[in-house]
This record gives sequence, structure tokens and C-alpha cells, in this order.
Amino acid sequence: MKIVGIEPKNFRTHVFSAFKLSRLAMPLLGTILKNKGHDVEIFLEEQGKIDENALKNADVVMISTITPTAKRAYKIAQQVKEKYKKIVIMGGPHVSFLPEEALNFADFVIRGEGEKAIVKLIEQLESTKPNFSSVPNLSYKLNGKIYHNPMDKDWIDLDTLPIPDFSLVKNFNSDKIKIYPISTSRGCPFGCIFCSVIALFGRKYRFRNKDLILEELKNIKKGQHVFFYDDNFVADKNRTKELLEDMIRHNFKGEWSTQVRIDIYKDKELLYLMKKSKCILVYVGIESINPETLKFYKKGITKKEIEEGIKTLHNFGIKIHGMFVIGADTDTKESILATLRFAKEINLDSVQFLILTPIPGTKLFEDFLNNGRIFTTDWELYDGHHVVFYPKNLSPLELQELHNTLFKDFYSYKEALKYLFKGNFWNTTIRILGKKFIKLWGKENIEFFQNLQKV
Ligand code: SF4
Repeated sequence: MKIVGIEPKNFRTHVFSAFKLSRLAMPLLGTILKNKGHDVEIFLEEQGKIDENALKNADVVMISTITPTAKRAYKIAQQVKEKYKKIVIMGGPHVSFLPEEALNFADFVIRGEGEKAIVKLIEQLESTKPNFSSVPNLSYKLNGKIYHNPMDKDWIDLDTLPIPDFSLVKNFNSDKIKIYPISTSRGCPFGCIFCSVIALFGRKYRFRNKDLILEELKNIKKGQHVFFYDDNFVADKNRTKELLEDMIRHNFKGEWSTQVRIDIYKDKELLYLMKKSKCILVYVGIESINPETLKFYKKGITKKEIEEGIKTLHNFGIKIHGMFVIGADTDTKESILATLRFAKEINLDSVQFLILTPIPGTKLFEDFLNNGRIFTTDWELYDGHHVVFYPKNLSPLELQELHNTLFKDFYSYKEALKYLFKGNFWNTTIRILGKKFIKLWGKENIEFFQNLQKV
């Protein structure tokens, strides 16, 4: 079959607008289908335009979506169906939790992990007597009735997955890829209330055999950067250490970054191996320094651990992108402003102060929905930069203004100069770049601010 895979983009400016990082779902599913003999073309909208000819010639169009790209994904699905009369399959976290919404635009929705289900669905689409009830994780409409097939009992064995073939991506040159995404694990043993990882991939931490990861890392050249896409790269410290030891032994040529919890600082051997294997930056979900808010999020770390963690990682020469979430029921204007002071005083290299967002699939979404606290389901706004619910101790507008104050203050010329005088050009550049995007964001959101005054 001729299959086109699309990863849509949210055209609004966001915290990672400057870094065009490819998501992995489409290249991976595309590679699996290519290995089954299908003719596959992938388009990542973040990288460039979708080729209309490819859509015209396709038999099936697959679209993957997260919540902030759902609106765009539905628009593409609608166009593909109306203009080209093609079969549309949707997948990804957002539609996994809201399949009935997606079936207004798509013919099929694959919920949860899609690697096995997509192969079985394509087999049925090729069959003269399709039996869609045999496809696990599938939701579909038949004669006006919606069916949700049971979920596969087994999680995907990550060792069975191929190395994603980025040459299938037709709207960018995979040879010139600067940030190379690699996923080595799925699942997370923790349970933060705003996170959908456990609902999607389970609490059991699964990881890929290190020899397969090393095989993939062999392709990385000097000057390239690997981003380990794992939600929690270090949930099993021993396996991470073994992998890092082998990266050092095999003289890994690039440099790398990933997402970790701050409590990794307690394991100095791990930090040593991270640095030695060329980890330059970690993304850390700090969330808050307000003890009540850390409890509210069920984060399982303390302010003391956060402070010690940041200092220790910095002592090892690893940069930190601190990720904060503001707007919990325990937050006040003072506690949010204290977060900003903390981020500056402790010299975080870069930060994001995202607004608490009730993403479908999380406990937070259920709670807020049941209590009438969500005032918009315009999914495009569910990017952490827009208030979409009624906070407890602030008005939506006040929380939105605080979000802007925090970003503007952190990414300011004053802060950039502070680092310039210290000779820290990385942090200087990041602050100037951040300032540019905040300005752009402000221009894009004048109307949103006006509307928020009426909420
Ligand atoms: S936010 Fe991170 S630590 Fe918390 S549940 Fe999600 S992946 Fe796990």
C-alpha cells in the first residue's frame, strides 16, 4: 500500500519553537510498515510542508497527534478525507484518550502503543473481507456505531522495534539532522498528576537492549547531538549506567541530553558516567519549590533535594533546563514569584514556566472536568502557555500574567548581561533567544489576553 504518515504542528510559538526536534512516532511506524513491504512517505510539519501530491497518491494517511496539535491534526484529516477521499488513521496520546472525538474526523483511531496495531490494521485494509474487530487497540465506526476493541494485553517489547529510518521523512534532509532523537525506554514508576505517560505506557519501566541502542548510536557523527526521548532516562539506574559505560567504551562521538528526575544527584557514579559519556544538558521536571505544590503534584521530591540536585549537577559540569509548572491549587502569586527568584538565584541554565494544563488522559483532567473548572477545550491552547482552567487562588488572567512576567524576567537583557560578564556565552545566547520568542508570543496572543478578561 502507499502510506503517508503526518506529524502535524501547532503553529503557535512555544518554548521549543527555536529547536526543531522530530517526534519519533511517524518515522518508527513508517519504518515498520516499510519493512512489511509498503511504500511509505513521512511528513513532519515542524520541518516543512506536506506534499499534496503524496496525499493525492496515497491509499492510507496516518496522522499522529498530541493534545496541542490535535486541532491541526483534525483539520488535516478532514481535508484529506474531503479533498482526496483517502482512509485516515489517527494515533498518539490525545486521540488515545478521546477516540470518539477523533472519529468525527478519522476512519480509525489506534489507542495507546500503535506498533502492532498498525500492521494488523493495514493487513485488514488490504483484505477482501476485513475483520476490524481482530485489531487490538482499535476504535472505529461501523454502520453508525462506534466500536472500541480491547487493548492488547502485552506492552510492546522494545527490542522488537527497528531503528527509525529518517530517510522516509520527505520534507527534510535526514543527513543534516542536528538533534537526533532516540527512544530507549517507555513507562515511568512515578505518578505526577499532570502527566499522561503512565496512562499511555504504564508504570512498569521497560527499556531496549543496550546493544540495539549502541547500534543506533554508531550512526552519530562528531558535532551531532542525541536527544534521548525517554520520559525518564534514569528510572533504572543500573541499566543506564551499563549503557553509559558502553557508550564510553565505544567512544561515542556526539553529545547528548535527556529528561531525568533531580534525585539522580544522589548517585555520583551515575553523574560521573553521564558527564564522561558526553551528557551536556538534562531536562529536569522541578515543577515547583513550594512544598505544598510538590505534594499536590505528587512529585515525590523536596525543595532541599531540588537545591542539592541542581548544585551537584552543575558541579559535574552538566547544564540544567528547569521545567516548572505554575497554577496548582496550592500556588499563590507569592509562591509563583518565589519560583522565579529561585530559578535565577540558583543559576538554572534555561527554564520553562509552564501553566498547569489538564491534558486528557491525566487524573488532573478528570478532576477539573468533573468539577467544572475547564473553561475551554480549544486544544491548540493546551501547550502550557495558556490558562485553560479556573485556578484556585488566582483569576485565569492573573495566572496568565504571572506566566508572562516569569518568562520576561528570566529571559531578559539584564539576565543575559549577567552571564555575559561571567563569560557564560551559552546562557547569554539562550536568554537573548528566549526574549525574541517571548516577544513573538506576546504579539500572537493579544486576542487571547482580551478574551481572558471576560472569563
Ligand atoms: S512527569 Fe516524569 S516522573 Fe512524573 S510521571 Fe511523568 S514521566 Fe514520570
